[in-house]
Amino acid sequence: MAMERLDSETETTPTAIPHWYDGDDDIPTIVDGEDVTVYDSEGTAYLDFQSQLYCVNAGHSNQQIIDAIADQLARIPYVSSGKHNDTRNELRARLLEVAPESMAQTLFSISGSEANETAVMLAREYADASKVLTRWHSYHGATYGMASLTGDTDTRAYIEPHATTTGNAKFLPPIPEAFDAETPEELAEKAANHLEFVIRNEGPDTIAALLTEVVAGSSGAYTAPPGYFERVREICDEYDILLIADEVITGFGRTGEWFGAQSEGIQPDLMTFAKGLTSSYVPLAGVMMNDDLAEYVAAEGFDVGQTFAGHPVGCAAALAAMDVYEDGLLENTREVAPRLESRLTDLEERFDVVSSVHGRGLHWGVAFADPEADEPFVDPRVSDEDDNPVETVLSTAGENGALFGMGRPNTQIIVSPPLCVTEAEIDEAVDALEDAIESTF
Ligand code: PLP
Repeated sequence: MAMERLDSETETTPTAIPHWYDGDDDIPTIVDGEDVTVYDSEGTAYLDFQSQLYCVNAGHSNQQIIDAIADQLARIPYVSSGKHNDTRNELRARLLEVAPESMAQTLFSISGSEANETAVMLAREYADASKVLTRWHSYHGATYGMASLTGDTDTRAYIEPHATTTGNAKFLPPIPEAFDAETPEELAEKAANHLEFVIRNEGPDTIAALLTEVVAGSSGAYTAPPGYFERVREICDEYDILLIADEVITGFGRTGEWFGAQSEGIQPDLMTFAKGLTSSYVPLAGVMMNDDLAEYVAAEGFDVGQTFAGHPVGCAAALAAMDVYEDGLLENTREVAPRLESRLTDLEERFDVVSSVHGRGLHWGVAFADPEADEPFVDPRVSDEDDNPVETVLSTAGENGALFGMGRPNTQIIVSPPLCVTEAEIDEAVDALEDAIESTF
């Protein structure tokens, strides 16, 4: 899929705006923000129920994080990863206090994509095997390797025509659309059996790792049915495959626990995170690993680093963000999440175009489908944005004062506010969404 060229002749604005694009359109220019609210250059306020990209977990302009960044900058802005740094050491120790029990050591990175690259590189090195299994519909990043492993068609479209994506395999996610199942238990069993089928056919010895989001992120906040991840863990153990949890969205409170693996009861072998780590005030990411991998790295070395990995300013931001999460936002997430859940599930009852609502904590997906055809309004594999009413719902909600995310594929809306959100703000934003659905259909 070629990127649309933008010039004076172009009449329509592509919905996926390239980063360099600064054109004249109806997308607001955000200039300011506080907690859950952002303001555009006209002074219009919006409730940011996308946390920008599911990442400003502590809310906008948190002074505690800003002060920690400023203090670190004033003391020493940068220390290379080959040297010790007090802030970085402190963060490494702090992460161990909150991570799933299986985690023993941390390598830092810069972005979620790069953390996933590092985890996969380490897994391949350790397992002496090359294949990595990922789920269809997944999103793992925009680097060459991660876009190849990503299962979402829009991202892969940029890679497929010219990348060597062979040597890996994808499996179906445990979602109702993928399997004919009457109950969540049956769905879990069928999806796990399918995974085992893929592994046995690929050849277990050729597979280094299985990389998966624990709660689906941008593909729609799907949680796995009960028992699914238990089976996945057993299957990985049986076939000697490393389980890598991609916690780039689910990490740092989004599901109501520090990590999604904890809310889903998973002990991963490797775990990657980014976004919420610093509340995205500055870039920082990390890979945590279990004892065996940590011992392997200590004995064999793993000398692939990045200049900005573990940047002290990022580490200072992360420590402050973790204080903010610990001092109230994790608790707030658990307190207000039921309100968000009940307001969103009401939409499913109220509108026949809302086909399902799913999620955990403060990360939810509202899926739309044509009730007559019992199918999405657009074919997500060849979607035409102009004909997609879900796009209209999203932009109308924005006009009503609430910003939400568009899922990948674009058949659903993602609801993911900062963790400092109040019940009153939840009501206000869901009212804006409700009005948008009503006026669109
Ligand atoms: N993994 C998941 C689950 C994500 O949602 C994302 C980004 O949205 C990434 C990885 C890539 O992270 P980044 O954009 O920081 O490279």
